Amino acid sequence: MSEKTLLHARWIVPVEPAGAVLEHHALALKDGKVEALLPSAQCAARFADYDEVRLDRHVVIPGLVNAHTHAAMSLMRGLADDLPLMRWLQEHIWPVETRHVSPKFVREGTLLACAEMLRGGITCFSDMYFFPEASIEAALAAGMRSAHGAIVIEFPSAYASDPADYLRKGLALRDRYRDEPLLSFTLAPHAPYTVSDATFRRVAVLAAELDLPVHIHLHETGDEVERSISEHHVRPLERLGRLGLLGPGLIAVHAVHLEADEIQALARHGCSVVHCPSSNLKLASGFAPVDALIRAGVNVALGTDGAASNNRLDLLQEMRTAALLAKAVAGDAEALTAHAALRAATLAGAQALGLGERTGSLLPGKAADLVAIDLGAPELQPCYDPVSQLVYSAGREHVSDVWVAGRAQVRDGKVRNSALSGLEIPAQLWQNALKGLADS
Ligand SMILES: [Zn+2]
Repeated sequence: MSEKTLLHARWIVPVEPAGAVLEHHALALKDGKVEALLPSAQCAARFADYDEVRLDRHVVIPGLVNAHTHAAMSLMRGLADDLPLMRWLQEHIWPVETRHVSPKFVREGTLLACAEMLRGGITCFSDMYFFPEASIEAALAAGMRSAHGAIVIEFPSAYASDPADYLRKGLALRDRYRDEPLLSFTLAPHAPYTVSDATFRRVAVLAAELDLPVHIHLHETGDEVERSISEHHVRPLERLGRLGLLGPGLIAVHAVHLEADEIQALARHGCSVVHCPSSNLKLASGFAPVDALIRAGVNVALGTDGAASNNRLDLLQEMRTAALLAKAVAGDAEALTAHAALRAATLAGAQALGLGERTGSLLPGKAADLVAIDLGAPELQPCYDPVSQLVYSAGREHVSDVWVAGRAQVRDGKVRNSALSGLEIPAQLWQNALKGLADS
């Protein structure tokens, strides 16, 4: 896309204002941002010197925001399936990570994840993993928008020796990349069962001082809640509250096991939840009360979690699963409508990450982070409502074009960036290395 472009589409769903579906409109794009969104004829008259792109069978939406993933874990896709969370972590994931995770692993795994995410219409992801400098390098090479967690856990790893070392390394990256427009940062204490009170207190102070969101796995399983009660005499959310972590910057990932007063507390403090329906189903973690959270006023975003527990980095799938599951959980077919699911996959994710002014909807002034989905295929006909089609019928294979900050990253279903080609070779080499460990 050149510097000044008019993007005409059969439908445009800007997400803001809520529920709007615009037919035969165009986006005027300039310098990587949305300049205007108007009826096609009006737009063409006003921006006569702009290059024109026509997407006559397509719906254009804001780029999808994957609000929780561990991108490099794409190299562990399918390594260990059909296990509950703690056995999966302790017997499979953590041993492989101890032996293999390095900057090279993270860079190559994140590139693989970026290729998959871009092809599926994801323009922004929030990552939590070791060696974030390597995931940053990969995300920048891929041309994606990304938020990187300064990860902290209590135990040492190849990446860092103790909690202070984790935080120091993560925050140094934030300082190094603070002027990089596609990057942002979070503090990422891994989970209540891997982080001490003292470390949480330090994270709370840093979050307030540096105005950073706090990205954490929270109330994911019944075991986690029980363990907190036996070790700390309170449930995890209450513990975080006492340690000063409840506030608008808190991003509670999973939030499956919640009591009514905890839903109210999340709402009262302006916290966000990242719902990861496929991961919760696959690890048998349970059913997040998404409808109750949204009704209480909690900002609910969507995430894929890592490819080792999903096994797809596919937000179109998460939208559909979330919309279907919410209805069954609430016993209410009106729970998480198609429009609400699309909002969760776009604007809610951006807002959770503190990027709501920059991306997540197509308001003028925001970045031109855009996805076009071709609704012309027989399996998507007829089309009474493009948002219904998007959430309930379409898949990521229907994504045709993706732009991040106005730059075309996918055209006609093909990734254009040479940094994202040939990734099956390192993936195969890592498979051989990890499989060797699994068999030994
Ligand atoms: Zn996770």
